[in-house]
Amino acid sequence: MNEFFPSLHHTDLPSFDPEIHQAIRGEIGRQARTLTLIASENHTYPEVLETNGSILTDKYAEGYPGRRYYAGQQYYDEIENIAIERARTCFRADHANVQPLSGSPMNQAVYFGLLEPGDTILAMDLTHGGHLTHGAPVSHMGKIFNFIRYRTKGPEGTIDLDEVRRLTRRHEPKMVLCGHSSYPRELDYSAFKAIADEVGALTMADVSHIGGLIAGGALANPMEAGFDVLTTTTHKTLRGPRGGLIVCTRELAKKVDAAVFPGLQGGPHMHQVAGIAVALRKAMTEPFRAYARHVVQNAATLGESLSSLDVPLITGGTENHLLVLDVADRFNTDGDEIQKKLEAVGLITNKQLIPDDPRPPLRPSGIRLGTPAVTTRGMGPSEMSTLASLIVQILRNEDPGPVAQEVSALATRFPIPGLAP
Ligand SMILES: *Cc1c(COP(=O)(O)O)cnc(C)c1O
Repeated sequence: MNEFFPSLHHTDLPSFDPEIHQAIRGEIGRQARTLTLIASENHTYPEVLETNGSILTDKYAEGYPGRRYYAGQQYYDEIENIAIERARTCFRADHANVQPLSGSPMNQAVYFGLLEPGDTILAMDLTHGGHLTHGAPVSHMGKIFNFIRYRTKGPEGTIDLDEVRRLTRRHEPKMVLCGHSSYPRELDYSAFKAIADEVGALTMADVSHIGGLIAGGALANPMEAGFDVLTTTTHKTLRGPRGGLIVCTRELAKKVDAAVFPGLQGGPHMHQVAGIAVALRKAMTEPFRAYARHVVQNAATLGESLSSLDVPLITGGTENHLLVLDVADRFNTDGDEIQKKLEAVGLITNKQLIPDDPRPPLRPSGIRLGTPAVTTRGMGPSEMSTLASLIVQILRNEDPGPVAQEVSALATRFPIPGLAP
């Protein structure tokens, strides 16, 4: 008996902290009963829940394998080396850093590691599909670096590479950054690379949303187009624990590593690194490759079904895992109202600004949908057309009762893998 640690051999959470325990039970029930259509979310593996809940959370491992500051690193070195090797394999890169605590510090590390404060970065505008960490005016990075933003254009609302070239020639950025959080199209990485080469800029692809689809072979890999750096979160389509990873060319390896530690972070979260290693091993399997293909096919089917029901889609459709629906004018509503109405029937989505949105960010015109989590639950094309029709019933302000019943039936028929009922 250890008087400082009375529950040494068993978990005491239900009786010691019933509020937290009940909240976790509640969240398990909420996830099981509803369908996650948030493009950046997923259901991770039971194996990752195990690594995340392991004693790997206990220890400091500042430094890198073989170059640590504290003793006792035998297993941590093994784990991190395995994760690095797998990240290099999955993304076909010379070098990998698996320590970023999440997507935001991951991108910050790259900016600080490869650039100087005040340097110019060309990136996608947040309101046209880019991410906060790509220099949005409200982000600290937007104050430290000089971000120039490209936007989508034309009736199709796609990226205009002529404008990317024009801005690159005019501003001569040190880095050309592509990547997005709400842009439903594949990117032409070779074209970005050629444009950056005209002014000798570094190329960075933040594939946070689509990292799993790239690792699974369903979308193009910017490293194969000669990019210098790729960053991705590990908890979105990659389906691992929350975290981030950076891969890069051999030439940039030292700068990237020094920027993550000691530049920006202290001790890595090694339970998370172990989970990333597991998720990357999964990503090399045939079932994962099939999942990645199905995520894209399901998004295409969902988009076609919504289009056929007269729902306007930004860019007219999708080539990846996400869709942006322009609901406000067509259905005389806004994204916030629809998000709430969908939540009330068990469909979990998020409101979304559309390009040049005339409405404010908290009541924008759009709704964003993504297929990773429902694909993880095993859904296919026929469920996608069902979902489209359920969403349209809500958009048309029809009776939510039957919709909620169908969502609940789907959620029961497609349980979250590995989750005890
Ligand atoms: C999600 C995302 C991030 C940030 O990830 P966090 O883990 O939320 O910090 C960065 N870039 C892009 C493009 C993203 O979609």
